[in-house]
Amino acid sequence: MYDIAVVGLGIAGSSTVYQASRRNLKVIGLEQFGSVIHAMGSSHGKTRIIRQAYFEHPDYVPLVLDAYREWDALEQTIGERLLIPTGGVMMGRPETDVVTGSRLAAQQHGLPFEELSAAEVRERFPGFRITDDEVAIYEPQAGYLRVEPGLQALIREAQRHGAEIQFNQVVEDVQLQGDHVVLTTPTGTFAARQVILTVGAWLTRWAPALPLEVERQVPMWFRPEEHHNLDSLPIYIREHPRNGRQAYGFPYIEGQGIKAGVHHQGQISPLDQVNRQVTSQDIEQLMETLDFIPSIHADSLQEALVCLYTNTPDSHFVVGRVPQNPGVIIAGGFSGHGYKFGPTVGSLVTDMALGTQPGPALFHPARFR
Ligand SMILES: Cc1cc2nc3c(=O)[nH]c(=O)nc-3n(C[C@H](O)[C@H](O)[C@H](O)COP(=O)(O)OP(=O)(O)OC[C@H]3O[C@@H](n4cnc5c(N)ncnc54)[C@H](O)[C@@H]3O)c2cc1C
Repeated sequence: MYDIAVVGLGIAGSSTVYQASRRNLKVIGLEQFGSVIHAMGSSHGKTRIIRQAYFEHPDYVPLVLDAYREWDALEQTIGERLLIPTGGVMMGRPETDVVTGSRLAAQQHGLPFEELSAAEVRERFPGFRITDDEVAIYEPQAGYLRVEPGLQALIREAQRHGAEIQFNQVVEDVQLQGDHVVLTTPTGTFAARQVILTVGAWLTRWAPALPLEVERQVPMWFRPEEHHNLDSLPIYIREHPRNGRQAYGFPYIEGQGIKAGVHHQGQISPLDQVNRQVTSQDIEQLMETLDFIPSIHADSLQEALVCLYTNTPDSHFVVGRVPQNPGVIIAGGFSGHGYKFGPTVGSLVTDMALGTQPGPALFHPARFR
């Protein structure tokens, strides 16, 4: 009998086995693929943005500050950098959410930030050619996380604290039996007091009553010949003044190139109908959105991949108990911004399983009723 069984080992599940094992719980993590590193879900693709002036909602700020502490503690333990600070610049017309929301979150929580005019952005970051009617919020604490080393470190640390990790285990059924829950895979059954479902886009199958949608995303990497003005870029998000699309991206990283993507605007489809091939339309859409970085050209494209968002209608996460099955807690619907919060979400759901805290109201599954 395990205290906690975690189904799915992307960033949410790997973080949960890490946090539960650190609290001396008897924990097992089950993953359907042969490794935490695979390209079928949402937690792959080398880098993820982390930032504090959270334009999506100021209530994320205490959580992201906790996530900074958690990533720092993990780095200290493993002796390896996972979070690379770069600063972050959020650009768009003055009335866009990216600008107003970042300012609001920074002001409400006393975070350091600077307001920049378009001319100041162009002077300070010569890689960006934004138009005169745009402005920016610069936050010095933003940066990026190294994705796959982060996942591996969480699993290694969980195992070091006694967690059992099993790969190639597809959980097919979860049933409440008296005071515990039984999980079934093709090779056997596992009994646990609590189950935490961190199955990413597969949550659309496990919780069909929740209004979740799977969205296809295609980040790309370029190797521009002239990358001198992109080496020291901050991470960025820019809402395009004409088409409203949000571009996001990273500085040039040696060995990787320069990564950029369009946030949302991808095809929505059932999980089994996601087109896993990169198309010329994907490239066109990104190039149109990146027109403010003239040194990135389509002919310097070196890599592109398909990755998934699992969206909720309000773009806030879904973390909480499933009313029909009190032994099960879900953590998903991360709507394209969940990686950075991994260790914090792992901590939240472990505390929920222990009954020590209810979890943030912003993420409550019952809000969709
Ligand atoms: C292109 C892109 C860019 C992004 N950029 C950012 C960013 O800059 N900053 C940020 O914070 N976030 C970002 N995100 C979002 C973030 O990456 C996701 O929110 C996060 O990775 C979701 O993790 P997850 O653990 O919920 O899902 P997943 O990583 O998909 O993990 C779910 C796991 O469950 C397993 N599983 C499913 N069903 C079963 C089963 N029945 N039995 C066993 N195992 C099962 C799957 O195989 C998978 O490994 C981005 C996402 C994408 C796609």
